[in-house]
Amino acid sequence: MTMPKKSERKHPPLAHAGDVAKGLLARWGFDPDNVAILPDRHPQYRACERHGRYPISMVDEQDVIRYMAPVCPVCAAEQASRRLMESAAIPKRYMGCGFDNYVVEVAGQQTALDVCRDYADHFEDRACKGSCLILCGNPGTGKNHLASAIAQAVLSKGHSVLQVTAYDIIARIRQTWQRGADNKAELDVIREFAEARLLIIDEVGKTFGSDGERVHLFEVIDHRYRDLKPTIILSNESIAGIEKYLGSAAFDRLCQNGDLLLFDWKSHRRGGAL
Ligand SMILES: [Zn+2]
Repeated sequence: MTMPKKSERKHPPLAHAGDVAKGLLARWGFDPDNVAILPDRHPQYRACERHGRYPISMVDEQDVIRYMAPVCPVCAAEQASRRLMESAAIPKRYMGCGFDNYVVEVAGQQTALDVCRDYADHFEDRACKGSCLILCGNPGTGKNHLASAIAQAVLSKGHSVLQVTAYDIIARIRQTWQRGADNKAELDVIREFAEARLLIIDEVGKTFGSDGERVHLFEVIDHRYRDLKPTIILSNESIAGIEKYLGSAAFDRLCQNGDLLLFDWKSHRRGGAL
């Protein structure tokens, strides 16, 4: 490609462009008078393969040229939210929880351990079918312990895992509303939650349970259901309570091909059997 000669260009360079260019050249160690090596039309653009062109320079209200980081702003925003999500992958207090240190003292605990270990061992098969797990029952009965054991086993197989609370999902979706009525931002957030190979949603039923919340959780669960991606639900509610909170459509999607485990023994946090 041949550059047009200066006289053929449609837009003459801005009055301040030469000074800015000289300053830049001097800073970069070039001859400040050799402005010909710098482009002099602004805004300049670069192209992102996924999001099209984005500006890397602009002329502000004082006719001064401003340069921006040559990074696609949409990609940068995506990376930032991914980093945020990754850092929230497994709550710290459950990091050391594996299948081997889950204490079994009653029959129900053995069943829960067997089902969860089997789920992790055969994760690829289960994931292909979008097979979900619902762990519900009394607080302090080891639901989080087993869910984190699954999460770590699945992570070690090289799959992405995201562990969030129902409230995290609702809050993240609502956060997008503040930036104006942009439906795309909301969809992007739903897609973020839909992206992880395994999504674990904790504290389902703890928030208010309004229709709005139900819709947000349904959108995420449904998106994953359609992509055949498994979701694990943790809740202190009864089975009927979870169904009521999520709505029967989301509940049906989770139960299809899935397992439902009721943790109905005494809590070890309250000085029970453990
Ligand atoms: Zn991009």
